[in-house]
Amino acid sequence: MDPMVESAEHSYDVIVVGSGASGGWACKRLAEAGLKVALLEAGRPQSDKNFSEHTPPFELKYRNLAAEILRKTRPVQSKFDVCNEYTQDWFVNDLEEPYTTPSDKPFHWMGRLRITGGRTNVWGRVSLRFSDWDFKAASRDGYGEDWPLSYKDIAPYYDLVEKYVGVTGMAEGLEELPDGQFQPPMPLTCQESIFRNRVKEKMGRTATLARSANLTKPLNGRGPCHYCGPCERGCITHSYFNSAFTTVADALNSGNCTLISNAMAYKVLMDAERNRARGILYIDRVTRAPREIYARAVILCAQAQESVRILLNSANPQYPSGLANSSGVLGHYLMAHVRSGGGSGEFPAAARKPSYGVPVKPVGIYVARFRNTKDAPPFKKFLRGYGYEGESSFDFNWNAPGFGQAYKDRIREPRAALDITGFGEVLPRWDNFVELDREVKDIYGIPALKIHMSDGENERAMIKDIGESAGEMLEAAGAKNIKTYANPSAPRWALHEAGIARMGSDPKKSALNQFQQTHDIMNLFVMDASGFTSNPCQNPTLTIMALCVRSCEYLLGELKRGSI
Ligand SMILES: Cc1cc2nc3c(=O)[nH]c(=O)nc-3n(C[C@H](O)[C@H](O)[C@H](O)COP(=O)(O)OP(=O)(O)OC[C@H]3O[C@@H](n4cnc5c(N)ncnc54)[C@H](O)[C@@H]3O)c2cc1C
Ligand code: SF4
Repeated sequence: MDPMVESAEHSYDVIVVGSGASGGWACKRLAEAGLKVALLEAGRPQSDKNFSEHTPPFELKYRNLAAEILRKTRPVQSKFDVCNEYTQDWFVNDLEEPYTTPSDKPFHWMGRLRITGGRTNVWGRVSLRFSDWDFKAASRDGYGEDWPLSYKDIAPYYDLVEKYVGVTGMAEGLEELPDGQFQPPMPLTCQESIFRNRVKEKMGRTATLARSANLTKPLNGRGPCHYCGPCERGCITHSYFNSAFTTVADALNSGNCTLISNAMAYKVLMDAERNRARGILYIDRVTRAPREIYARAVILCAQAQESVRILLNSANPQYPSGLANSSGVLGHYLMAHVRSGGGSGEFPAAARKPSYGVPVKPVGIYVARFRNTKDAPPFKKFLRGYGYEGESSFDFNWNAPGFGQAYKDRIREPRAALDITGFGEVLPRWDNFVELDREVKDIYGIPALKIHMSDGENERAMIKDIGESAGEMLEAAGAKNIKTYANPSAPRWALHEAGIARMGSDPKKSALNQFQQTHDIMNLFVMDASGFTSNPCQNPTLTIMALCVRSCEYLLGELKRGSI
């Protein structure tokens, strides 16, 4: 050990890096099973005191209106409005923790949280299952690789996770979007109901309540949602799923998990002779001191790019191109949904008298994939598919023209609208990748990532279709003033990055096996979306959590057997 590096006092059974969707579950399962777990989290502790979902903007210093002040420290993070005056200090300071891209391939790496719970503090909560249409897509259409597991392998873990998380949803019986263990559904708005009924009747497509991690019934001491609206600012009744007050809290309550906050993992420490991970070298973000911590097994759950950055930064003479990279695929096959097509329309028939202070439903609708499915012939223009997330609005006519009484009358005319945004699958391509940028380091001295990402033919054709189909469906639903769009997806800002340490049964073509264990180092695991073999159009987090629980069961078995 370097004499300048302090070692932590304890040695643990397992180190988990990252406390978000995956890390929370890893800690909960392993600590509740009796293992001594160290949870290394780069961010600060989260607390109910930080939640501001009921704080009106006029109580803030800048009324949540000073975007230019936010941009000074968070020019990337604040591009998405969940990083705002209420929440800004939950996010990285982009200047202190930079990343780079080639100038012709801009990529917005947003949603970089630095607080317990990670992205689950601010996520959109849409919770959808994958199916064998996803896991075995390569066998069906010949592109890419199948996942090394099937729907039946993960289904029991989806059940377990949904029951604990609490997912409001409606069963629809679709093979490509399997039903789950739902809490009672939140109601649809008028325009959502009209859209659902007409799109089904006229086009045979399914628009359902967006299955979402918001409670409609009490669960484990958490209260049902009271429809206040801005979940991304926290929730004092714990009615949406945030790992900070669910999985991580359970892990800490077990007495077996130690949360080490402000701990920025730099690299995995190796025992070269035994080819085993020995622990983690991290930087204390407060003192900037390097520290070492040791365990029998290491699990990276830092979010896909962050975990792979740690593996690349862990290169050593034995593994010169990064740990878990004997296949050479580490960093490659970056996938992140395209979401630059969609449409909107107004529904005059759904309008009633607008007013202030009404309940706000935090969940919209979801249009299930309808291209390249069981009931649709193979689509000629592109492989795979997309779904739409839809959001209703019901408001005053703020754009009313005129002055005086005429204006006052017009402004009261209600506006009921529905927006739908496509989320499309991106194919895994070698030339979408991340690497270390040797020229750029963060303020802790850790080399930063360079991200290379662009659209291929398949994505371009898909985005066009997303825009066109949005128009057709809104038309079928009887919407007025329909507007559609289908833009190039650069700069990409998916928030659903995956695939850069992919799973597979062939160690020559993949970094991880089906239990997210690295092929090269048996006590090193990566349990976030890095392992995804493909990036289905459904949102990833439910699958991240279910896979993580499955992999933890495997790890527990291996530890018990003494094979790790
Ligand atoms: C605005 C937004 C909306 C979203 N909406 C949805 C949605 O509707 N549905 C859906 O399925 N998904 C959604 N997502 C994505 C979802 O939040 C992520 O898929 C999920 O949280 C990823 O889990 P994770 O465990 O990989 O990472 P995270 O939840 O991000 O947690 C990673 C943690 O690791 C920590 N960390 C990072 N680097 C280090 C390091 N070097 N050392 C120590 N700790 C580190 C971070 O501080 C963070 O706390 C959304 C994301 C955002 C930002
Ligand atoms: S809308 Fe519901 S889940 Fe969201 S913050 Fe309010 S009570 Fe919590």
